[in-house]
Amino acid sequence: MGRCAVGLDIGGTKIAVGVVTLDGQIFWRSRRETPVRLGAEAVAQAVCSAAEEAVRAAGAAGLQPEAVGIATGGQVDRLQGRVVSSTRVLPGWEAIDLRTRVAEAVGLPVQIDNDAKAMARAELAWGAARGAQTAVFLTLGTGVGGALAVNGRVVDGQRGFAGHLGHIPVTSVTSDGPVCSCGNRGCLEAYASGTAIAALARARLATERPPAAATPEPAPDASAVFAAAAQGAPWARWALDQALAALGAALAGLVHALNPEVIVIGGGLSSQGEPWRRSIEDAVFRRVMPAFRSGLSIRLAALGGDAGLAGAALLGAGWDRVDAPDPGNSGKEWRG
Ligand SMILES: [Zn+2]
Repeated sequence: MGRCAVGLDIGGTKIAVGVVTLDGQIFWRSRRETPVRLGAEAVAQAVCSAAEEAVRAAGAAGLQPEAVGIATGGQVDRLQGRVVSSTRVLPGWEAIDLRTRVAEAVGLPVQIDNDAKAMARAELAWGAARGAQTAVFLTLGTGVGGALAVNGRVVDGQRGFAGHLGHIPVTSVTSDGPVCSCGNRGCLEAYASGTAIAALARARLATERPPAAATPEPAPDASAVFAAAAQGAPWARWALDQALAALGAALAGLVHALNPEVIVIGGGLSSQGEPWRRSIEDAVFRRVMPAFRSGLSIRLAALGGDAGLAGAALLGAGWDRVDAPDPGNSGKEWRG
């Protein structure tokens, strides 16, 4: 059997771990609860023991993992191997030197990155963006995450924070829009996350139904909004139209900036399938200049829930050589 690496995907409820082979197979996998309520230290211990379990499982099959990759929410400093900000998902995560902890636990090199960037690596290598040079990745779920690829590689930016597409402002320059999780107003995430879609729908419902007539039925979540919109409910349609207008604006901006071949849509809302993909495509193509539409396709993510751990394994092993520091170049002067 061939080369392999361990990938970990740390979510707010589950830690997924797998042994991933270079040809894109998940050879072994496991899941455990994320002990968020016990604090960041308990989460770090759970991550270490998940990594140890994976290395043991690989060893039992005669495999030696080359490295460990970790995908997590938040702003991840790729150089320091630390989560810089993840207040919403895992409070206190910033204080943990996760890369060192896991490296000491398993005795292997460890890399850590944002989960949407990990998903993008996996979709580039094995999924919906396979073979693409220029691509945009958007994850629509509880929040909105993203990543960009140029020359077939995921863009890191200065410290690794590139791709936080959920915080692209989409309101007009003269109005503010709803408050976002980041504290700003009018971000894409404040319109197009599942949380935002549900909030927009609830606000619209409240204006349609006077409080005295309000029924005690449960407030709709995002999937209830999609279901009601499919039945023609105007409040639900309105909320989705807001989300789609925001997606159209943000993605059209990115298309004009990057001229991508593919936009990959992932995250929990992708379970809405082809009608959702087509609605996003319409919203984008309406705002994109004709020359940019040619050769551009908008696809749903292909790897589903496995993309995070598969991309983390790619990252850990450096198989895609994404942003690996080039020792031959560092510290040298331009010689023309
Ligand atoms: Zn924001």
